[in-house]
Formats: sequence, C-alpha cells, structure tokens
Amino acid sequence: MNLGGYLSRSSMYWPDLEALVCGDRRWSYRELEDSTNRLASALLGRGLAPGDAVATFAGNCGELVETEMALYKSGLLRVPINARLGAEEVAHILTDADVRMVFVDTAHAGSVLKAIERGGLDCAVVDYEGRADHHGTDQATARGHHPLGTATAERTASTSGYQDLLAEGSTAPIAVEVSEDDPAVLNFTSGSTGKLKAAVQTHGNRLANMRKRIMSPEGPPSCEERFLAPGPITHASGMAVLACLARGAKVVVLPEWDTGTFLATVEAERITSAFLVPTMLTMVLAHPDVTTRDLSSLRHIRVGGAPVPPQRLREAMATLGPVVMQGYGQGETTSGITIMTHEDMQRAVTSDPDLLMSCGRAWFDTEVRVVDENGVPQPAGVSGEVVARGPDCAREYWNEPELSAETFRNGWVHTGDIGYLRHDGYLFIVDRIKDMIISGGFNIYCSEVEAALYEHPAVLETCVVGVPDEHWGEAVKAVVVRRPGSDVTTDELIEFCAGRLARMKKPRSVDFAEHLPVNRNGKLDRRAVRAPYWADAARH
Ligand code: AMP
Repeated sequence: MNLGGYLSRSSMYWPDLEALVCGDRRWSYRELEDSTNRLASALLGRGLAPGDAVATFAGNCGELVETEMALYKSGLLRVPINARLGAEEVAHILTDADVRMVFVDTAHAGSVLKAIERGGLDCAVVDYEGRADHHGTDQATARGHHPLGTATAERTASTSGYQDLLAEGSTAPIAVEVSEDDPAVLNFTSGSTGKLKAAVQTHGNRLANMRKRIMSPEGPPSCEERFLAPGPITHASGMAVLACLARGAKVVVLPEWDTGTFLATVEAERITSAFLVPTMLTMVLAHPDVTTRDLSSLRHIRVGGAPVPPQRLREAMATLGPVVMQGYGQGETTSGITIMTHEDMQRAVTSDPDLLMSCGRAWFDTEVRVVDENGVPQPAGVSGEVVARGPDCAREYWNEPELSAETFRNGWVHTGDIGYLRHDGYLFIVDRIKDMIISGGFNIYCSEVEAALYEHPAVLETCVVGVPDEHWGEAVKAVVVRRPGSDVTTDELIEFCAGRLARMKKPRSVDFAEHLPVNRNGKLDRRAVRAPYWADAARH
C-alpha cells in the first residue's frame, strides 16, 4: 500500500477530524486528503515521473506535511533538506540527488536559487508563500519576507507559487503503485563523519517503521492522540507524523522552536505526545511557565537524538511526572530502534533507577545487538558498537558505495554508537565511537563525565571533549554553562567529579561558557566545542 494511501483511509473514516495544525492554519482529514491529491496530480501533470527526486527546503510548516504525503501518493522520491543547511550543502544535495523540483519558503529561496544558477541545474522552484503570476507575492511581502523572484532567479529557475500548483491538480484520489524496494526518501545527514550523505529509505522501510509504531507496546496512536512536532519534521522523529496520520490523530507543527510557545501549545491543544532533543528539554525545565501551564494532557515526551543527561531526566520526572522517556535511533534505521514503555518508567521510578538512563528494549521487529570490532556479539554489560537489523533499516547510502559497505555490513546497520545491553535486554548508549576520549590508553566516555557534572546543582549545561595533552595524548576538558547566579569554580567542579568518577575520568580542566553551540537539529555540537582546542594545538 502506498504510504499516502493511509491518509486516504483516515480521511474516509474520520473526514471531519482535525489532521494538521500549524500556527492559525488547520486542516481536517478531508481537506488534507484533497490538497495532497491536488498536489500529487499537479506534480505528475507538470511532467515529473514516479522516481524523480523532489526536495523541500523550508522551516517547519503544514505545507511540508502536505508535500510529504503528496510525494508518496505520486511515487516521487522525497528529499527533505534540513532548513538549517547552508547554500553549499543545498547545492550538493540538489546535484547529488538530481532534484527536479524544490519546494521552499521565501526565507530559504535565496540559497536554492543561487545553487540552481551556479550549477546550471534543471530544477523548478515552488514557493510555499508565493504565486507564480506575481513573483513578489503579496502574501510573502506582507509577512516581511523578500519576494522570491529576484532578477537573477527569474532568469534561471522556473518558479511557481504553491497555490497555483494546487489549483492545477484534481481532488480525485491518487496513489501511484510503488514497490517496497523503491526509494521513498533520501535522508541527508552529516552524521558523525561530518560528510553529507543520504540514507536511502525505501517505501518498505517507512511502511515497516509506521507499522512498528502502530504495533507499539504502548498501543497505536488513536484519534485522541495529539502529537506536537516542535523540531524539524524532516528529521527521523517525523516518522511519528506519518503514523499519526494513518490513525486519525492530530499533528500540531510548531513553525519554530520557542519554549514559551511550546508550553502554551501543549496547554491550548491538549497535546498528548511530543519529541524533544535534550537541549529543548533543558529549556523546557528552566522555563518559568513549566509550572504554571496546564500540562496534564501529556502522556509521553520522547527525548533523544543525542545523549540525555540522567540528571535532566530526574528533574523532568520531578516536574512533569513519569512521561519523559528516552528514544534512540538514527536516519539509517529510519527512526527509533528501541522503546521505553510507561511500565519501564514506572519501574525506573519505583525500583530500578538505572532504567532511567536506558533507551529501552528492541522495538517490535527490529533486532538490536552490541558487537566488537569483528562483529562478535558482546555479553550483557560489555560495551561495543550498537548494530540493528530489521525491515525499517536502510540498506545503503545514496551514491556512496564505500561508506555503504562500511555501515551496512552483513545485513546490520552499524550505528557508530557505543552502548551495552543489560541482561534483560535494555540498551544503554554510552557515546559515539568518534567522540570517545582516549587518555593514557583508557577509553573515557564523554557522556559519563557529563552525567557526573550534571549532578552538580550549578551546572546548567555541559559538554565534555578530549583536548590535546603532551603526556596523555588527550585530556578530559569540560566546558560548562553555569546556572544564572552561580559562581562555582573550576576547582570545585573537578573536586566534585573526583568524588564520583575514576581518577583518570575526572576533567583535568574546566572552561566556562555563556552557551554551547548546537547543530542544525538543535543537538549539542560537540565538534564545534572541540575545534578551537585542536586548532590551538596545530598552531603551536
Ligand atoms: P540522526 O540520524 O540525526 O537522528 O542522529 C542519530 C544519532 O543521534 C545516533 O546515532 C546517536 O549518536 C544519537 N542519539 C540518538 N538518540 C540518542 C540517545 N537517546 N542517547 C544518546 N545518543 C542518541
């Protein structure tokens, strides 16, 4: 079944229920079904053929969801580009994936048009906020954006307005036949290697991930579910959107991250579930509205995409109740590979506090193992690389045979993460392989040192990195953002860690910062924290 067909079924069962909300725009299931049929038929009417690549490059908006569903319906290959990528990266993606059409909002149009012009690419542009007949677009100008049709752009790229495209299509149901092995999505990430590459997610992969969510031990999403997507819906966590739309649930999209708006939206829309990256959770817990807003509708907030400090989870439990749990997965596995259930969280609270640090157990039909460098499974409690196998796991990167052979070995996705499995199957992620610090021959996991630092009440945020050291090769350095009003010193923090960690693991030095850099998905950017220390070493 075409992924878009699940939306059609939902619109048959629940035409008048709200499917999608973004800002002051609301779509019922019937409206979303009609607009996605229109868009799908208009795209094919413009001469695109199933399998052709179509990209999106825009901030979070409802139209991104419309476009996603229309691309499935028309059998086109979806290339979601993270809205925070720069012009160079966008140019690389458009060329590498041979993108024939790209949907943009006005704020992102500039980089796309530049890339098309520079590369001489044959790629049409559709402006979510514009109309083709007057490129400047009244709407866009009213919203304070620059008009899309700048002089150079008009010469090189054929641009159209989104509404015009919709008007060309028909509301008649459409769902092109696709094969399970056909690529559905190219999921471009820089991942741990820093190289921009795309995991190829087939229609079969995404279907399997959606079914896994519907077969979740937590039960499927239902018409009562109201999912809030505060981060980029182009990210792996966007899979939740697909599962919700297959089940008559409501999806609420936040146009951009703002902690106060997040909390207000939870209250106003009676949100039941959400996905946050750890930095967002930190901001939520530090926000004054967290205690005044009515957040009682929340049933689960999954936090993942980066290591989650245990102390944060404890604070979250105290403030929000046992609704906050870790999620773990990556683009290469389409989305989550393990799951924490409410029962797990209850056990974490009552009798098994270690569970708080776990990402849960293998989810439905995904297998999870921990292996050594030769691929040999490790016994319980022994760390190694986390590998996963299942019908939702990708089998290759786009146009990257060498990297594919390295990552997708013997049918298993090699995640590049270090972790261990407890005797009862719970997975604990320790670090990225590439982030591990090797000091005097010992392996030191940044997340373990960070966890110790987070126990200190003055530590708001921290990032631990390896820095050059003549004697030890690398030494442990902590960069710390203090809570407002705190004057904790370097020595106090080192002393504090010494009481909690083995000697070689305690930071040798601590630097204070006003804030820590985050990457395009809002995750802590460890590479940016580490870079200046290594640049200094290179100069001397
Ligand atoms: P992405 O493909 O951009 O979603 O990034 C996936 C990566 O984020 C994983 O390979 C992990 O390194 C990291 N990650 C995701 N969830 C967690 C988690 N719960 N704890 C630690 N790291 C995580």
